[in-house]
Amino acid sequence: MTKPFSVAIDGPSGAGKSTIAKLLAKELGFIYVDTGALYRAIGYEVLNRGGKPNDPDFVEDMLPRINIELKYIDDIQCVLINGKDVTEFIRTPEVSMAASSVSAIPAVRSFLFDLQRETAQKNDVIMDGRDIGTVVLPGANIKIFLTASVQDRARRRYEELNLKGVGTTYSNVLDDMAKRDYNDSNRAAAPLKAAEDSIIVDTTGNTLEQSVEIIKEIIQKARNN
Ligand code: C5P
Repeated sequence: MTKPFSVAIDGPSGAGKSTIAKLLAKELGFIYVDTGALYRAIGYEVLNRGGKPNDPDFVEDMLPRINIELKYIDDIQCVLINGKDVTEFIRTPEVSMAASSVSAIPAVRSFLFDLQRETAQKNDVIMDGRDIGTVVLPGANIKIFLTASVQDRARRRYEELNLKGVGTTYSNVLDDMAKRDYNDSNRAAAPLKAAEDSIIVDTTGNTLEQSVEIIKEIIQKARNN
C-alpha cells in the first residue's frame, strides 16, 4: 500500500484555509480535515456544561468523559461528541473565542493529537489548522502557510457570518480576530507559526479563485515530483 499523501495548511483565522482546502480536497479526491472544528467542539462542550473555557481544571476534568469523532457524510465533515453531532453549533462567535481559549491548554492539544494523526495515516488528506505542519504532521508532503491582512480576514469572516444570519458587526469581528490572532500566536503550547519548510502564501487582495489556483499549482508540482 502506498503511503497516504498529506497537505498541511496552517495560518490565522479567516485566511481562507477551509474554503480553499475544501474545494481542492474535492477536486483531488482527498479528505478535508478541519482541525479547528475539533477545538470548537471542545469549546462548545465546555460552554454547554456550564464551564469556563479558560479554566484548565474544568476542561481537563471534562476530557476523560468525552469521546470525540470525525465522520464524513456526503464529503462533509461532522464532529460528534459522545455520539451527538455538534457540527451546526460550533460556528458562533462565542464558540470561536471558547475554541481559542481551550486550544491553549496542552491537555486539549494532546487529547486531539491521535485523532488528527490517525486520520492522516489512513487517508490522503488536506488538513488545516494552526500546528499541522509544525506538530501534527511534521512529515507532510506539502506544507502551506496561508495568511492575509487582519482587515481582509475580518471582512471575509464578517461576510460569511452575515450570510449565515449571525448578527454581528465588522468591528466586533475585527476585534475578535485580532484577539484570537494574539492568543494563537503567543500561547506556549504549539503556537501558530509557519513551519520552516512551509511555502508562505499571502492572499490579501486575491479572489478565492486566484488563491485556489496558486495552491493547486503548488500541490500539482509536488505530486509530479
Ligand atoms: O480554524 P478555526 O478558526 O475554526 O479554529 C478555531 C480555533 O481553534 C482557533 O482560533 C485556534 O485557537 C484553535 N486551533 C488550534 N489548532 C488547530 C486548529 C484550530 O489551536 N490546529
